[in-house]
Amino acid sequence: MTDRSGLSRRGLLIAGVAAATAVPVAPAWGADELRPGAVTRPKLDKYDRQIVSGLSSDRALQHLQVLSERIGPRIGGTPSEKRAADYIAGQLDKFGYRTKLEPFPVADKFLAQITDIRGMLPDDLCWQAGAAPGGKLDVTVEGPVRDVGPASAPVWPADVAGAIVIADDTAAARPAFVAEAAARGAVGVILLPADQVFPRRASAFSPSGLTGAPIPVIGVAQVQKRLIREALAVVTALPLRISTAAYRGLISNNVIGERRGKSDGPIVMVSGHYDSVIGAPGANDDGSGTVLTMELARVFSRIPVDATLRFALWGSEEQGLIGSRYHVAQLPQAQRDRYRAVFQNDMVATSWDPAVTYWLLSFTGLANTATDAVRAAGQRLGYDAQLVGPVERGASDHQSFQEVGIAAANFSWRGELAPSYLEPPYHSPEDTIAKNVSLERLQVSMELIGCAAYAVARSS
Ligand SMILES: [Zn+2]
Repeated sequence: MTDRSGLSRRGLLIAGVAAATAVPVAPAWGADELRPGAVTRPKLDKYDRQIVSGLSSDRALQHLQVLSERIGPRIGGTPSEKRAADYIAGQLDKFGYRTKLEPFPVADKFLAQITDIRGMLPDDLCWQAGAAPGGKLDVTVEGPVRDVGPASAPVWPADVAGAIVIADDTAAARPAFVAEAAARGAVGVILLPADQVFPRRASAFSPSGLTGAPIPVIGVAQVQKRLIREALAVVTALPLRISTAAYRGLISNNVIGERRGKSDGPIVMVSGHYDSVIGAPGANDDGSGTVLTMELARVFSRIPVDATLRFALWGSEEQGLIGSRYHVAQLPQAQRDRYRAVFQNDMVATSWDPAVTYWLLSFTGLANTATDAVRAAGQRLGYDAQLVGPVERGASDHQSFQEVGIAAANFSWRGELAPSYLEPPYHSPEDTIAKNVSLERLQVSMELIGCAAYAVARSS
């Protein structure tokens, strides 16, 4: 029995390591070959061939590793987002674009980090969480974890003093619960979100509703809750360290690379957002759209067109389209009138099997130059059956442009039932390359948008 459990434990460890280091295999298909998931063979024109022969999902993957692994979560206005902005701007510079950062103010952020002192939790998961602005900030505490059950009706063990207390969160119970935990000598509180209905999983959060609590209070994601409780069930002690940090007076940035065409001529834009939510490495949301935009910028840098090309990566999308709304508000009407199409790419590479539909999402619900061009590119690439839309949906940066009458749409792989069927790792610590990225889907997305944008840029 001992040997068997020892072996299976080692097997689990090896599987865990493999999952952490697994890198998807770069797809390889000829220009005229049937694409994965497609039912008809492509019929590409000579311009499409220029795009598809130039694209490299390996290069896109390298950018994605920098963004989602080396930098990790990119929270609007914090140093993590700025590191990503500088990296993206450096690459667009290298491709020869006139590149600028467009700064704008955003709200304060309150973050936390969990460190597993004994090494009992999987280390291939992101352990960032949200901190309560009304709890103690810029502090590090450590102690053994004590699970008291629901915060609304806690069962207090005798040895709470010096411990980190975990409890199932309800917003109304927070003030009284945190006060009692502090009075009993707890050094910190981890609030656990309720499980959401599949395929949703709760995100990490900065708990609101507290003022002047004397200890740090943090909010974790559903997967972090599960793993902490699973560890508690099988170890004698689970000591954790939690650190909180406040970021105030923040500036977030859009990154925009431009190649000027004829003055007063048409503008074609490809875009994504490069920020992520708390606790999420943001590999698919929206590292995928970011690296698609960067790789298309590289490919187009060698393709002459008369139109002005703009490649834009928006900051602070996750707090309500703040970056793209700021950008559009600054755009003079004379420039707005020159836009032919904005191709926004938000979540374009999930490896979730049921995400077999490539949605054309329009804030107005109506077709426009962007949706028409992607539909036509889909037909040439053999994807007519997988493309659905235009369907009415905002909630990404295309909305900011459509609000002022510019032709724009968001493009995204999602479940076939409705565009609300997002993959389970969405907005969670599991939004990683290993758990949530298909290079095949990324390559297909790059082909669709590249061929569509080239067609619009040529015909403008
Ligand atoms: Zn997104």
